[in-house]
Amino acid sequence: MFAAVLIFGLMTGVAAAQDCVPRDFLAEPLPDEQSSPVWRSALLLAYPALRPGTRADTLRAPDGQVLAANGPTGRPPRERLAAPTLGDQFVPAYPLSRDLESRSEPFFDPGRARNGAFFAALYGHDSVDVEAQLETVTFGSARFRVTRRHGVACQLRAALDLMKPHRAALAPVFAEAGGGYAWRPIAGTDRLSPHSWGIAIDVNAALGGYWRWTGSTEGAVGPYRNRVPWSLVETLERFGFVWGGKWHHFDGMHFEYRPELILHGRILGGDRG
Ligand SMILES: [Zn+2]
Repeated sequence: MFAAVLIFGLMTGVAAAQDCVPRDFLAEPLPDEQSSPVWRSALLLAYPALRPGTRADTLRAPDGQVLAANGPTGRPPRERLAAPTLGDQFVPAYPLSRDLESRSEPFFDPGRARNGAFFAALYGHDSVDVEAQLETVTFGSARFRVTRRHGVACQLRAALDLMKPHRAALAPVFAEAGGGYAWRPIAGTDRLSPHSWGIAIDVNAALGGYWRWTGSTEGAVGPYRNRVPWSLVETLERFGFVWGGKWHHFDGMHFEYRPELILHGRILGGDRG
């Protein structure tokens, strides 16, 4: 029995990898009724392998692990960033519009708060675990190693395939691209970077820039000159990647697979017109 289940699991796993069916998170219909709270609905929609827990404040990870799913805490931004609850990850909401104004507000960093236990449960608890699931997605000569888990490689490939007709115009963005997977902490912190889970890519650092390189202090970052085209930002958003260029602590080269934030924005009524 166990062997049969295992073999079936392996077979369906292989089939899933081959029949990569990308999701358009801006177009797919939202369920008529959302369960409450909205952020929890967005998580369950974004990651079908995630299940409701037996209690309202838990979720069940794909491996059966019970995850704490507490709501937004309202703590000051530095505390939220250091150890966010699942609900804290949705504060503030990610803007789906071409919005570089909101980021003038200190700590307007939608997507920068990440609950480490949650991402480890989805993508792997150590580098060996994550690396076993990596796949390379290319755009011209740029290569991005990302995880296969939860459709990340599938979604990235779908987004970049759509951009192929514009490859010449996008050449500077993908020249010297920073890449994808890297098991490392975020600069200046002891928190794991999302690159560690294989869910983030960096394009050309010279075009987007990074707040730490400007000499700004945390919480007091000024405007910056973005040269990453909106067409690329919006296509990646469509396939579930948020962009660090919208953050107060901007990271304009950085895109990260967070479909829950895109769906959350839509459920709140922020559909792109
Ligand atoms: Zn990055």
